[in-house]
Amino acid sequence: MDAFHYKNKELFCEDVAVREIAEKIKTPVFIYSETYLKQQFLDFSKTFPEKHIVCFAIKANNNLSILKLFSNLGSGADIVSGGELYISKKANIPSSKIVFAGIGKEDWEIEYALDKEILMFNVESLSELNKISKIACSKKKKARIAVRVNPEIDPKTHPYISTGLKKNKFGVSYDEALNIYQHAKNLSCIDVAGIHFHIGSQLTDLSPLRESSEKIAQLVLKLKEKDINIRYIDVGGGLGITYKDEKIPPLNEYKKAIVSAFSPLKDEIVWVFEPGRFLAGNSAILVVKILYKKENGAKKFLITNGGMNDLIRPALYNAYHEILPVITKKRNKEKVDVVGPICESCDFLAQERFIEDVEEGEYLAVFSCGAYGFSMSSNYNARLKACEVLVNGKNWRIIRRRESLEDLTAYETD
Ligand SMILES: *Cc1c(COP(=O)(O)O)cnc(C)c1O
Repeated sequence: MDAFHYKNKELFCEDVAVREIAEKIKTPVFIYSETYLKQQFLDFSKTFPEKHIVCFAIKANNNLSILKLFSNLGSGADIVSGGELYISKKANIPSSKIVFAGIGKEDWEIEYALDKEILMFNVESLSELNKISKIACSKKKKARIAVRVNPEIDPKTHPYISTGLKKNKFGVSYDEALNIYQHAKNLSCIDVAGIHFHIGSQLTDLSPLRESSEKIAQLVLKLKEKDINIRYIDVGGGLGITYKDEKIPPLNEYKKAIVSAFSPLKDEIVWVFEPGRFLAGNSAILVVKILYKKENGAKKFLITNGGMNDLIRPALYNAYHEILPVITKKRNKEKVDVVGPICESCDFLAQERFIEDVEEGEYLAVFSCGAYGFSMSSNYNARLKACEVLVNGKNWRIIRRRESLEDLTAYETD
């Protein structure tokens, strides 16, 4: 399903006119479709009749209401910090469905995760493994772990979001993995539970995933020979979405690319998936208002009240986000840069884009903002973080209020 559609030239989220929300609570505002989020989760989950856990990668979106919605559908969480563990527990996500990745886990975060008895730590180095073992022993606990192994396959995605290569900072190298597992097996406070890999984000081509799965499956069989029995195969996230015209492989193809390689092991394992972008990316738009139109020499600019502080992906990855007027009027298209108010030249939402010749005061919808949108936003230039709204059918509600001026100094002392 599409979360957003035009009806009589006016953009709707489900059955609510986007303009109505923008007028009532001002802009910038992120507007999410609840029905779409549910649908994506259920579509993903039902692709795998095998024993599995879907752990939503909550770095993509950690709004409590959205996490609760996923939690109610049976989702777990893929976390990368103690903060994300805190939020997951607030959203009632069961600890038995929480996996903890990240290369820089601090002692307190490891302790916190052990106290909460999460499913497993996705360990990213030998030092971290030893640290987790030591802390677990001091608590007279056994820590379940998976080793994050680098399949060293190029995911053919943007270099900033590729993670499974030799040169990346994540995981342990494929050749070292066996030794690390043998070391882990001999640690008395470690339970070797799984294996983890995650090769990158916004994957649109399945062959890197297929090759990675084959390499990891070989390793799992080798481990079995050494009497190390892997129970959880955590295949990470990374499935892409359509921002512009990308063709996304259907879920059953995605499944085949991963599962086939593990068929000799299939009765013994539980799958763990960590989708982020796929579940939430196309669930939301960011609505901004055009403050000014401006021409500088040969260039035309639309200056909006939303910028890189609200949506950093264009500035950070040169990412493409579709931008359309909330009310279309079949006007000629103009080549423009859509920019924000931030004092940085990289503060743009789109460059050299053909957009209908809109007027000052009109609203623009920036699409595909449900993942890595609000969660990457900041207060740069002392701008207030945007409001978030969740739509369900004809109804909508605020799920995060707009920040106030007082919020800006709330943590400071003078
Ligand atoms: C970022 C990340 C994910 C989620 O990636 P998506 O592309 O949003 O699906 C999953 N697992 C790990 C370890 C990650 O770092």
